[in-house]
Amino acid sequence: MDANEIASAARDHQVRLVRFLWCGNDGTVRAKATTLHGLEQRMQSGIGVTLAMEAMNSLDELQPVEGMGPVGELRIVPDPDTFRVLPYAPHAAAMLTDQLALDGGPAPVCQRSFLKRMEAALAVRDAVLYAGFENEFTLAKVVDGDWRPLDKSLCFSTIGMTASQEYADELVGSLDRQGVPVEQYYAELGPGQQEITTGYAPALHAADDQILTRETIRGVATARGLAASLAPKPWPDAPGNGCHIHFSLWDRDAGRNRFYSPDAALSREAAAFSAGVLDHLPALCGLTAPSYNSYRRISPQTWSGAYTCWGYDNREAPLRVPSVFRGLEEASTNVELKTADASCNPYLALGGLIAAGLDGIDRELELPEPVDVDPETMTEEERAGRGIGRLPETQADALDALAADSVLSAALGETLLRSYLAVRRSEWQTYSAEDEEFERRGHFLKY
Ligand code: GLU
Ligand code: MG
Repeated sequence: MDANEIASAARDHQVRLVRFLWCGNDGTVRAKATTLHGLEQRMQSGIGVTLAMEAMNSLDELQPVEGMGPVGELRIVPDPDTFRVLPYAPHAAAMLTDQLALDGGPAPVCQRSFLKRMEAALAVRDAVLYAGFENEFTLAKVVDGDWRPLDKSLCFSTIGMTASQEYADELVGSLDRQGVPVEQYYAELGPGQQEITTGYAPALHAADDQILTRETIRGVATARGLAASLAPKPWPDAPGNGCHIHFSLWDRDAGRNRFYSPDAALSREAAAFSAGVLDHLPALCGLTAPSYNSYRRISPQTWSGAYTCWGYDNREAPLRVPSVFRGLEEASTNVELKTADASCNPYLALGGLIAAGLDGIDRELELPEPVDVDPETMTEEERAGRGIGRLPETQADALDALAADSVLSAALGETLLRSYLAVRRSEWQTYSAEDEEFERRGHFLKY
């Protein structure tokens, strides 16, 4: 659709405000909205935003980052393909935006443009990364200014499903109307915990869908007087909310899944790509599980993947190769990354995943032996002998690993890396000086 068609679709739907959305270094989704007056023009020229926003952390504490102070502007310019009327907000629509410099080129800090660069690096090899997100989240009632889980039912229990049935129906309907393909929905293990899986799509499209999904999960809850938390660990003693990412490489015309091999669980290219991801995993965690609260989730024996290993159908491995479905062998061949949560910026997470995987292909890395037990049950010596280590245990460690990783650093580029580290490290400074309750309240409704 071009700008005129979008303006006329917005008028047909009686839209009053069109949100220009972006997800920044802090992983939160922010927006500025325009009325229909001058929408076509704003779609070309964008809306102005201070450069300082990309130095802002998730507590709205502005960090000292060179070139991101009170002086200077960028433009958020929408991608017309992402136009959606929002079923959960009155007379509202939204588009995802790129952050452009005043000359019209991508601002070096633009996370969405980073993912496009990584997609271009794949395109040179005639490949596309397909990704699908599985969001776990917690539904809660608001009671006396705090949150209480909607139910305390068993894992996959139909009693839990009944407790959230009206919400789930509206959520799936809302995503459907936005063209986001929902695959499954169920009540998960933890109190009030839900899971929704959305279909796989080329990386940029999948990341856009992930933002729309997060917005819809929260928007539908709010409209019903509920609260939806995508925080990695909404309650310290309850199961965490993962946002597992399933990925595979396809030929550019999407005709062939290059992860599939008729004679092995994974093709050689899939193994090399995954070996690259495994090799860079501690650093990649700085992008895929980037918040303070992320490290309350990633711990042994919580099925979140705490050790550097991979395995077939092994839910304690951060990289899981799921068994394929009979009759759908090629289409269902993929790898799952478990050390990811919804506090990540999905553009950075997928861009980092591509950079790590491409490095594996370039270096012709091979996967080590798969792990077919819970790695926590191995002895320390056994793990060391097999090169299995603990993934970062804190946000600070993950960010240090990211800063020390030359491949991911180079892929992000200096401006994006520097501002990202400043923002995320400042969150560590704040949260590590506070207590668990401050952390819980600071994360519960942020993502
Ligand atoms: N809730 C677990 C996590 O944090 C995942 C459970 C599952 O395997 O679905 O990642
Ligand atoms: Mg799950």
